[in-house]
Amino acid sequence: MKHEHHHVCFIVPPHIFKHLTTSSNAAVREAAHHALEVSAAARGKRTAIGPFVGLLAASPGVKQRTVYDEKGGTKLPGKLVRKEGGKATSDVSVNEAYDYAGDTYDFYEAVFARNSVDNKGMRLDSSVHYNHKFNNAFWDGTQMVYGDGDGQIFTRFTACIDVIGHELTHGVTQFTSALDYQAQSGALNEHFSDVMGSLVKQWTLKQSAAQADWLIGKGLLAPGVKGVALRSMKAPGTAYNDPKTLGRDPQPADMSHYVNTNQDNGGVHINSGIPNKAFYNVASAIGGNAWEKAGKIWYTAFTNKLGHTAQFADAANATYEAAGELFGVGKAEQIAVGEGWKNVGINVSKQIISGSAMITVKAPPASQPPDSAYVPPTIKSQPRKSKG
Ligand SMILES: [Zn+2]
Repeated sequence: MKHEHHHVCFIVPPHIFKHLTTSSNAAVREAAHHALEVSAAARGKRTAIGPFVGLLAASPGVKQRTVYDEKGGTKLPGKLVRKEGGKATSDVSVNEAYDYAGDTYDFYEAVFARNSVDNKGMRLDSSVHYNHKFNNAFWDGTQMVYGDGDGQIFTRFTACIDVIGHELTHGVTQFTSALDYQAQSGALNEHFSDVMGSLVKQWTLKQSAAQADWLIGKGLLAPGVKGVALRSMKAPGTAYNDPKTLGRDPQPADMSHYVNTNQDNGGVHINSGIPNKAFYNVASAIGGNAWEKAGKIWYTAFTNKLGHTAQFADAANATYEAAGELFGVGKAEQIAVGEGWKNVGINVSKQIISGSAMITVKAPPASQPPDSAYVPPTIKSQPRKSKG
C-alpha cells in the first residue's frame, strides 16, 4: 500500500465504539453503530478532498480562523458562521472551536515559534454540529470537524481544549515527521498529539507539571459514565472503567503490557499509553512548566529527528539526543529523559548515550499529488487497513 502522509484522525478510538455496540441500552448501541458508519463515510469522503486544500488560503505570520456550522449535515465545511476577528456568536460550540483553535495557534507560536500547523500560516478551519449527535471529532487532513455528542456517552467535542490541541497536532505531524498511522509509529503519532494537546491546556491554564491533571478529554464523558476522561497520561489504563458503556481503558503504561492487536491500526490509541507515561515521567522529574523543557525536547525530536516509520526506541533516542542539544549532554534534563523511558521499559541506545551514534535525520516527506489518497470505490468497501 502506498505511503500516505495524512489521515482522518478521530479522538475517540474504535475499541470504545466496539464496546458500545454490545451495550444493553438500545439507544447506546444504535449511537455506536451510527458513529462507526459516519466515521467510515468521513474517511471515504476525505479521500476526494485532497490533502493540502488549506494551504491555498495560507498567509504567513497571521492567525486565521474560520468556523462553519454543519447544522447536522456532513457535507464539509458547512455554512461560514465566524471568521478571524468576528464577534462571538450565541453558539457555544462555534465560540469554543474558534477560541481553542486560537489558543493552539498561540501556544505553537509562543513556545515553538511555529506558524500554524504547516509553519506557513495555514488557515485553521473548523466545522461544528457535524451530523446528528455524532460521538466524535476528527482532523481530516485539512480541517477540524466536531460532533455534538449524544449526551448519553459523550458531551460536545468542542468543550475540551486538549482535544482541539490534539487534533491540530495531527496536522503538525502530517507536515513534519508524517509518522505512519500504524502500530508503534502510529502510537507515536497519537502520543505526540496527546502531549501537545495536554501542553496547550497546561500553557493556557498556566499550570506546572505538578498542577496539571494529565488527562485527555476531561469533561468529555457524559454525566453517569464511570470515568474521568478518554486517556490518562499520568496513569494510563485508569481513565474509565464502565462495563455498561465504554468498557475498561485498555492503555498499558509500560512495554511489558504492550498490546499486540489488529484493531485500531495496531493499537495506536492503546499503546500510546507507554510513551505518554514516559513523557509524564520526564516532565514531572524536570519539574516546573512542562512546555518549557520537556515540551521543547519532544517538539524538537518529533518535528526534526523522526522518520515516518519511527518506533518507540527511536523516539527515546531522539528525545535523549534533543535533550542533550537543548540543555547540555549529561545534564539533569537529559538524565530525566533517559530515566523516563527506562521506567516504561525502553532503554536509550548505548551508542546514543556514549555519543558515538548519529541519529538519522528524517528525509522530508515526498510531495504527493492531491489525489494520492484516493481509493477506487471498488475496493473501498473491502476490509482494509483503517485510516485512523
Ligand atoms: Zn488522535
